[in-house]
Amino acid sequence: MKVFHTVSGLRDDLNNDRQQGLRVGFVPTMGNLHEGHLALIKQARESNDVVVCSIFVNALQFGLNEDWDKYPRTYQSDCDKLRESGCDYLFHPDDIEMYPNGLDTQSRVICPTMTDVLCGASRPGHFEGVTTVVSKLFNIVQPDEAIFGIKDYQQLAVIRRMAEDLCMPVQISSAPIHREPDGLAMSSRNVYITEDERPHVTVLKDCLEWIAEQVKSGNKDFSGLELQAKQRIMDAGFGIDYISVSNSKTLDLAADDDLDITILGAMFTEAARLIDNLSIVLE
Ligand code: AMP
Repeated sequence: MKVFHTVSGLRDDLNNDRQQGLRVGFVPTMGNLHEGHLALIKQARESNDVVVCSIFVNALQFGLNEDWDKYPRTYQSDCDKLRESGCDYLFHPDDIEMYPNGLDTQSRVICPTMTDVLCGASRPGHFEGVTTVVSKLFNIVQPDEAIFGIKDYQQLAVIRRMAEDLCMPVQISSAPIHREPDGLAMSSRNVYITEDERPHVTVLKDCLEWIAEQVKSGNKDFSGLELQAKQRIMDAGFGIDYISVSNSKTLDLAADDDLDITILGAMFTEAARLIDNLSIVLE
């Protein structure tokens, strides 16, 4: 695996590859890689000749009171994992390389729909940071295909919309949620979960599954279901950000006649904010 810290270095090699007609697959990450990330790399490997992964903890998508400074940075072990997973190029720029003109005056990419609900409601500016950095990374890598995890359902929806709206010549693909044996969705932020909390955090996934069963068996009282799930999560000792029964395409609150439904949730442990989601299709 070749490692690049500069845009120009990575571009030189990729230009060469493209001239030879090779297809480029891309997996953007913030590092502290786990099996979920590596599954994205393997998926990229299956349908591309060259696989690029980026590791960049993007300050632009973190709020002022969020965990940018303490986000787990595990560069050496990430490199080992990427090598074993068949990644060809790792792009690992620093902040100056990505934002040479500083963050404040950086041109931005804004997706005006789906970004101020759910995670966007409690993390103002988050998705603007995501769409901006992903656009920059797409311009740098110019991938044929980019792969994102369904774990970040809203992020995937926003990126699909951005790519469509801006005619970005890239195929956006998705990968299923990778989970721990007890069902907890893998996340770089799971390192913030304490030993005492760990046995109980699956309550989020359990609540999403319970709502899915209720909806499938005909219960359309979505707000009632959300309230009950929230209470169960609070009873387990966690804080609630949101539980939402949403339209899978628009992320609006689900309507009675919606058939494609996604149940999304976010909750707080002492030091982590955990998200999860579950999609169902009604007959
Ligand atoms: P992150 O490093 O958290 O920015 O994530 C980088 C990519 O990995 C995003 O497309 C995420 O959706 C994806 N990802 C993170 N966790 C998981 C998981 N448990 N299963 C599948 N994909 C994931």
